[in-house]
Amino acid sequence: MSPSEIIQSHTLLPYFAAFLPEDRTHFVKSAMTGELGRAVNARLGLLASTVKNPPFLRVCPQCIIEDEITYGLPYWHRSHQLPGVLVCYKHECILEDSVIPYTLRRNRHEYVSLKRDLIRKKMAAPHSCNVQKKHLIFLAKQSHALLNMPYDDEYLNNIPMYRAKLSKRGFITPNGNIRFQNLRSNLYQTLGKDLLHMCHSEINKHSEDTWLHKLLRGHDYIHSLRHLLVMQFLAETIDSICEMQKETYHPFGTGPWPCLNKVADHFKENTIPSCIVTRCSDTGRPVGTFKCNCGFVYSRRGPDTSECDRVKIGRIKQFGIVWEQKFDELRVNSNLSLRQKAECLGVHRSTLYLKMKEQPRSMDKYESFGENVRTIDLDLLSEDLSNQTNATCYSTAKEDILQIRVDWEKRDRELLPIISQAVREIRSTSGKPIRVTISEIGRRIGKLSLLEKKLVALPRCKALIDREVETIHQFQIRRIEVAAQKLFEEEQSVVKWKLIRNAGLRKDAAVQLDNVINSVISYYNGVEGRTD
Ligand SMILES: [Zn+2]
Ligand SMILES: [Zn+2]
Repeated sequence: MSPSEIIQSHTLLPYFAAFLPEDRTHFVKSAMTGELGRAVNARLGLLASTVKNPPFLRVCPQCIIEDEITYGLPYWHRSHQLPGVLVCYKHECILEDSVIPYTLRRNRHEYVSLKRDLIRKKMAAPHSCNVQKKHLIFLAKQSHALLNMPYDDEYLNNIPMYRAKLSKRGFITPNGNIRFQNLRSNLYQTLGKDLLHMCHSEINKHSEDTWLHKLLRGHDYIHSLRHLLVMQFLAETIDSICEMQKETYHPFGTGPWPCLNKVADHFKENTIPSCIVTRCSDTGRPVGTFKCNCGFVYSRRGPDTSECDRVKIGRIKQFGIVWEQKFDELRVNSNLSLRQKAECLGVHRSTLYLKMKEQPRSMDKYESFGENVRTIDLDLLSEDLSNQTNATCYSTAKEDILQIRVDWEKRDRELLPIISQAVREIRSTSGKPIRVTISEIGRRIGKLSLLEKKLVALPRCKALIDREVETIHQFQIRRIEVAAQKLFEEEQSVVKWKLIRNAGLRKDAAVQLDNVINSVISYYNGVEGRTD
């Protein structure tokens, strides 16, 4: 069984990852290879989430009987262990608690087989009697569906759909503002206070920054359970959303799509993983926009009717650094006609003609900026050449500075593993944790000014760095985790004052991060669970 199959069929990750935005694929992949390790919870934002996991592993009495008949012995079902799930998705009966805590730090990886004497016969949810059964069944079935979604599916980008449905029902003003009080009271009416309470998802009437606000803004990771609550309110299901999403994506088939930048070394290779679909305002036809890492962006009106349509460009929206470099090279080449140059660059003659007219030659560009540009470039170059012992080469390079064309594409690819290695080193520093910042990375690889000034020309490196650098908040959370781990390893008790002291948190930061600190403490003390 491959790691991805194990993640897919035996962990709770698919449930939590379903609503992760764009970098989801990356996230799931690195989780599979184990690079993320303990960072999984922090990345998901679960540490700071107020949705709590159930305290004990749970079972369905009817599943046990069925499993015994079918397999000879019962087993723990993943779908029974999710927050907000109180009934069996299959038998619709109330689940029962076992005596096994959801997460017990000291034997987290120990396998506990399910035996009948581990069951408490206590109802998992005494207060569920005030919650309508149809709501409980919905949550159980939809949580189960989430858990069993194939991970390579498109992530569920359902915020636009939520907003469209809400605005149809008058909960969003034409300006895009949420009629919050109205929406909140309707939500309470439909779902009931008890259900929201049971799901740790009550909504403060007087706040303008509740989970519901955040969810509809679409910037933060919001716990899957809360997405399910909103879907329940809107009478949607995972299936209906997936269907809707497929329809939207249908006009251009499925990705990845080819890069159509003729001068790129990956021309016509499928390098573009996602496509943004909008509607043409004149014709109502779908328009797909395709954006490659090399900076080349093109769009095309759909729907595609055959495979050949996949390599058709409607309009080039951005040429990107790779193309622009080739363009700069060719424009001064007097041996080629305009038609030949256009052919080389993969654009129409008129496009090229207009482009040459609108943009002064790059030499002129340098001159108009004067001395400053030279200084910057000399700095960058000398930094790059500092390892080179050939003095002649150095001075020649210095003189020829304006003639040299740096192969950014190549450099981007070469720097990527070096940066990645530096990030790993920073994160695994023993002793006092070091924050992952651009300058820390730059200093370590001896290319600080390159990273500070020319990162836009290195799209792959930029994406990596954007993903890896830590905000102060993220860094504080990591410090707390590191401090707790250390206390735990030294067999000291993980208590608040020690944690705050060892993580080096200022008083105001400690107050702000109280939620996180408490989760970490209870995690190490095995009271409340976290999923790894
Ligand atoms: Zn069952
Ligand atoms: Zn490309």
